[in-house]
Amino acid sequence: MRISTRITHFLTSTLALNVFDSNGNDYVTVVDYYFSLEHDDKVSAKSFNAGNEAISLGVDNVRFFLPGKIEVVHPDLLALAALKIVSPYIGSQVIFEFPVSKKFEESVYKCYKNIKHINSSGFVSSRLPGTIHGMSFSGGADSVGVSALIPENSCLVLSARTFHKDIGKFESWYRTDQNVETLKHMPESFRKISAFSDFEFASTNGKWCIYPDKYAFTIPLLLMADYLKLKSVATGDVLAAFTGNEVKFGGTFSYKDAYIYEAVGLEFIQPGCGLTEVGTEMLARKKGLANISSTCQYGPFQKPCMKCIKCFRKELLRCALDGRMPDEKIVGIWNESPAVLSMANSMERSGAQMLPTISWAFDRIGGKFSGATEKIRRKAKLFSPNSGFAEFAYYSAYRDKDFEYILHTLKTLIETVGSMNSSQQDNFISYDALAQLKNNDVVEQLRSIIR
Ligand SMILES: [Zn+2]
Repeated sequence: MRISTRITHFLTSTLALNVFDSNGNDYVTVVDYYFSLEHDDKVSAKSFNAGNEAISLGVDNVRFFLPGKIEVVHPDLLALAALKIVSPYIGSQVIFEFPVSKKFEESVYKCYKNIKHINSSGFVSSRLPGTIHGMSFSGGADSVGVSALIPENSCLVLSARTFHKDIGKFESWYRTDQNVETLKHMPESFRKISAFSDFEFASTNGKWCIYPDKYAFTIPLLLMADYLKLKSVATGDVLAAFTGNEVKFGGTFSYKDAYIYEAVGLEFIQPGCGLTEVGTEMLARKKGLANISSTCQYGPFQKPCMKCIKCFRKELLRCALDGRMPDEKIVGIWNESPAVLSMANSMERSGAQMLPTISWAFDRIGGKFSGATEKIRRKAKLFSPNSGFAEFAYYSAYRDKDFEYILHTLKTLIETVGSMNSSQQDNFISYDALAQLKNNDVVEQLRSIIR
C-alpha cells in the first residue's frame, strides 16, 4: 500500500466542528491521509482489534481535525497513526512518502506480521519522549474514573467522530456531542483537547463501524504527540480488558504490543488495570465527576438512554453505591429493552461478561425485582458465588509499571479504593465463569432461570 498525507491549516472559526484546546487556539490543523492499494493489498480483512471481526475498507482517504497550528509531525507518528487505520488491509509492503526510522521499522515487523517492508532511513532519528503525560480520553465512566489516577497536568485527548464525505450518514444514532461535553466539564488542571475524525467510518462490517486495529482511538493523540510534547499515553482500560471480560482471570495486565508506542517515544500506561467498573465509579465519585461521565453513545449529555446494557450496568452500580433501589420506571424500561432482554435470555458467553460486577451490585442493593431484570439477578448469583473483589483494587496488576507514575496511581487508589486481601485475590484468580458454563448442573439451573 502507498500512503500519502497532506497537512493544512484553517481558522477554527471557519469550521462547524467543536475542535478545541483548553489552552486556546485560533487554528485547526487538518491531516489528510490517502491510501493507494497495490496488487497484494485487500479491501476485505479481519480486524486486528479484539474480536477479529470481518471488516472492509470503504474509502481511500480519511481526515483528522486537530486543534492548533501543527506544522510538522514526526514521520514515525504519522506512520503509526496510518497503520492503526489500514494495517489489516496491507499485503506485504507499505510505502510512505517519507521514510520512517529504523527503530520504528523493526517494531512494525514485530507488531504486524503481514508487513514485510516499510520504507525507512538511517537518517531519520527516532522520536524522543516529551515531558507531559497524555491520556486518550473517551468521556465514558471508566475514562473519567481513571483520570483521577493520572498526573493533574496531563493532556486529555478526545477522538470524536464526524461523518465521512464519501460515505455520508452511517450509524447516525451514535452521538459524540456528550463526550465533548464531558471533556469540557473535566477539571481545569488538565489540558483538554477535542479532535474530530472520519476514520472510524473507513472500516465497517456493512452495518456498523469496527476499529481495524487495537487502540485506534489513540490516533489523534499520536498525531498531536509532538505538538503537546507527550511522553506517555494512558487509556481507560479496566481489569475486564485484561481478564477476558471479568469472567476469567487472564494474568497479564499490559498491552502486549505496547513497544510500538515506545518506539515513537510514548510509554503506554493503563492505570485502571487493577480495577473493575465499581472501582472507576468510586474514583469518579471521590473526584466529584461521576455525574458528568457519558454512559452511552445513544443519549445526549447527562441524559443516558437507560435502554442499553451500559446504562443498565452503570445505573445498577450507582444504586448499589448509593444504597437505593432503582426507580420503578427505570426497571420497567429495562424489562422492555431488547438489550436487557437478550442478556436475560442468553446462555452465551456474551451474557456472562460483567456478571461479577452485576452480582456485586444486586447483592448490595438487595430487594426484589421483576421480569428480565430479575432473571439477570438470578443468573448473576449463579455465576458468581463471591464477587466481593469487585469493589477492590488488584494491586498485583500494577507490578512492572513505570515507578513514578504508578506511585501516584497507587496513592490515589489507596485513598479511594481498598485492596483485595489474599482470600479475595485467590477468589479472583480462580474465578472462571466460562468453565461454569460447561458444568451440566449450572447449565440446567441457568435453563430453569431463562425459561
Ligand atoms: Zn444507554
